[in-house]
Amino acid sequence: MFDAIVIDKTEAGQTVRLVPIAGDQLPEGDVLVDVAWSTLNYKDALAMTGASPVVRSFPMVPGVDFSGVVAESSNPAFKPGDRVVLNGWGVGEKHWGGLAGKARVRGEWLVPLPEGISLRQAMAIGTAGYTAMLCVMALERHGVMPDSGEVVVTGAAGGVGSVAVALLAALGYNVSAVTGRVAEADYLTGLGARTIIDRAELSQPGKPLARERFAGAIDVVGGVVLANVLAATRYRGTVAACGLAGGMDLPTTVAPFILRGVTLAGVDSVMCPTSERIVAWQRLARALDFTRLEAMTAELPLEEVIAIAPSFLEGKVRGRVIVPIN
Ligand code: NDP
Repeated sequence: MFDAIVIDKTEAGQTVRLVPIAGDQLPEGDVLVDVAWSTLNYKDALAMTGASPVVRSFPMVPGVDFSGVVAESSNPAFKPGDRVVLNGWGVGEKHWGGLAGKARVRGEWLVPLPEGISLRQAMAIGTAGYTAMLCVMALERHGVMPDSGEVVVTGAAGGVGSVAVALLAALGYNVSAVTGRVAEADYLTGLGARTIIDRAELSQPGKPLARERFAGAIDVVGGVVLANVLAATRYRGTVAACGLAGGMDLPTTVAPFILRGVTLAGVDSVMCPTSERIVAWQRLARALDFTRLEAMTAELPLEEVIAIAPSFLEGKVRGRVIVPIN
C-alpha cells in the first residue's frame, strides 16, 4: 500500500482525496517505478480543481511528471535501479500519474536521467523546466541566439517562466522578464533577468505593430500579452508559445508575420518525440545553474498538495513546487 492523490467523479461532482492504494490497482505498463519526487504544474492544478477538463478518465491519479527509480521492468531498455524521469504522454490525464508512491507506465515514456542531475533536481526542473528548454531549442532553430538581442519571458515568476529566465541567462541571452508581480523583481533579477517589465504594460489591446524590440520571446501566457509581444517582436524574430495562463485566445493580426517575418513557434512537451526529450534533458544538465534552480524551488508535502492547487490558477505560486514522495 502507498499514498496517492485520487481524483474521482461522482454524481455530486468531482472529488480529490489523498488515500492509500494497493500496487495491484495501478494501470498496465511494462515498468514499475518507485516515485522519488513529483511536482505541481499548472496542468495538475487544473486537474485537481476540475477548472478545465484535463482528466479524461476516472478515477485518476494526477501528476504529469515524476522522477524515480525503476523497481520492476519487463522492458529491455530499463532495469531495476535505473534513475528515470517522466513528462507528459497523457500521464496524470488519462494514465495514472506521479502524485503517488509508485507508478506503472510504458517504458517508452521514460527518459534515463542524465548524470549530474539528482532525482530532486529533476523535479525542480520538472515539466516546466523541460518545456522551457524546448522553448529555447525552438528559438535556436529559428536563429535566435545569445547575440541576437533582448529576449523576453512572460509569466516569468511562474514555473516555466522562472526556469526559462535562468536558462536563457545561463546561455548568455539578454533576458527581460514580464511579470504581474513586480514585487518579485529581485527574485527575477537573481535568476538572471536584466530588465523587468510590468505585465500591465502588455495587458491592454495594442496596435498590430509596435516598436521593434524583442529578438525572441518565450510566452506562457497567451491572450493579449502574447499579441502585444508579437507586435513588438523585431524583424524575423521568433516567439515560442507554450502556455495559456492568461487565456486561450490570441487577439492578434497577421501584421507581425507578413510585414516583419515574425515566426510563432508552438511548443508542446506532452507528445514531444523521445529523441528531442533526451537532448533537452542533457542540455538542462549542462546549462542550468543549479544554485538558481534551488532558489526558485519550494518543497510541499503530499498532504498539502490538494489545498494549494487553486492558488496556482490564481498565479500566486512562485517558481517551482516539488513534492517529496519516497
Ligand atoms: P505557473 O502557474 O507556475 O505560471 C504561470 C504564470 O503566468 C504565473 O506565475 C504568472 O506569472 C502568469 N500569469 C498567471 N495568470 C495570468 C494572467 N491572467 N495573465 C497573465 N499572466 C498570468 O504555471 P506553469 O509555469 O507551470 O505553466 C505556465 C503555462 O504553460 C500554463 O498555461 C501551462 O499549461 C503551460 N504549459 C504548457 C506546456 C506545454 O507542453 N505546452 C508544458 C508546461 C506548461 P507572473 O506573476 O510573473 O506574471
